[in-house]
Amino acid sequence: MSERIREKLQILTDAAKYDVSCSSSGSSRKNKNKGLGDTGNGICHTYTEDGRCVSLLKILFTNVCIFDCAYCVTRKSNDIKRVAFTVQEVVDLTLNFYRRNYIEGLFLSSGIFKDADHTMERLVRVAKKLRKEHNFNGYIHLKSIPGASDELMHEAGLYADRLSINIEIPTESGLKLLAPDKDHKEMFRPMNYLKNEIILKKEEKKLFRKAPLFTPAGQSSQMIIGAAKESDKDIMYTAAKLYTGFNLKRVYYSGYVPVSNDRRLPGLGSAVPMVRENRLYQTDWLMRFYGFGVKELLNDANPHLDLDIDPKLSWALRNLSCFPMDINKVSLHEILRVPGIGMQSAHKIVAARKFQKLNWDHLKKIGVAINRAKYFITCGSRQFESRDLSAMKIKQFILGGSASKYLKIAQQQLSLF
Ligand code: SF4
Repeated sequence: MSERIREKLQILTDAAKYDVSCSSSGSSRKNKNKGLGDTGNGICHTYTEDGRCVSLLKILFTNVCIFDCAYCVTRKSNDIKRVAFTVQEVVDLTLNFYRRNYIEGLFLSSGIFKDADHTMERLVRVAKKLRKEHNFNGYIHLKSIPGASDELMHEAGLYADRLSINIEIPTESGLKLLAPDKDHKEMFRPMNYLKNEIILKKEEKKLFRKAPLFTPAGQSSQMIIGAAKESDKDIMYTAAKLYTGFNLKRVYYSGYVPVSNDRRLPGLGSAVPMVRENRLYQTDWLMRFYGFGVKELLNDANPHLDLDIDPKLSWALRNLSCFPMDINKVSLHEILRVPGIGMQSAHKIVAARKFQKLNWDHLKKIGVAINRAKYFITCGSRQFESRDLSAMKIKQFILGGSASKYLKIAQQQLSLF
């Protein structure tokens, strides 16, 4: 590899590390005709120590940008060295790294170096060359550039497994403050176009087996947390809108990493603790898989997540009137609301109680975290009499007088600053 390419790679992989929307699950592109790669399973993505997802070839096409978003290291006013790959260089790097087994896919984003179409066209060309000329079947995630034409978005969908458009700042007012040239509407428009195309192409595929794949892993988005003063409630309401309004597969929450001493932003020493990211992901999970409405978890009375405890326990403590539940009688939907009982255990409970009345030993074997669940359920008998305990007391008992593992990490992070 030439010195020049090595330098570009160093700069453009470093600039790409702030984007966490790179999980590569959900695609099943099959390798035919002895092509390269296969996204069927085990697409490699990994997480750095601080919880960020790192795709193995995760690069920007260029860090030249005409915009000046205050929270972004690539903003035009930042005095950094600017470089750009050519289409062929990205293709060569992907193939070479793939053949050496360093990567199993490509995550390609970019600064906007002239206008949206000009940039998007280059990203699409990379994907097209890989697929058409090199028969590459590895995973490709392209960042869509807001404002790009529908034709380019359509073409991108034909070659990429996943497309993502970052919302960036969860509230419109925060976005206007930190990136005055942008607005959410401009991001929602291509999301809506992709949503409709994905539905249409799925229908086509049912009718014609040979209809081409179109963004088989769907679309995702990322929000930067803590750059503006949004509450957890604001963040999760925006996430709910993305899931329900645009059928997004995933929303990623990325704690703001201080990159500037701009007075509109939090100070350079105030990184968002990882525990906040974790609590947001747990809330997201509860909304998508456990049947919780965003209003139940976050509302005007509770606009912020409790960092000490997970959001399900927090909800249960605010709603003690719903408990205790008789584990042998309540529905799956209700079991899923009990702290200490996860999705798998809930299904196992429902299956097992068809054959016998469950007791505490059965629950232990099933994998229920009894030390949490015992405050909220009965199981033949009550193991714990919590009727007279306040929410605060139960919380203290559960935490056992010590901070949660996430809180400990957060405290360590804060002490570093
Ligand atoms: S448009 Fe994207 S790359 Fe450019 S400054 Fe804004 S966030 Fe950064």
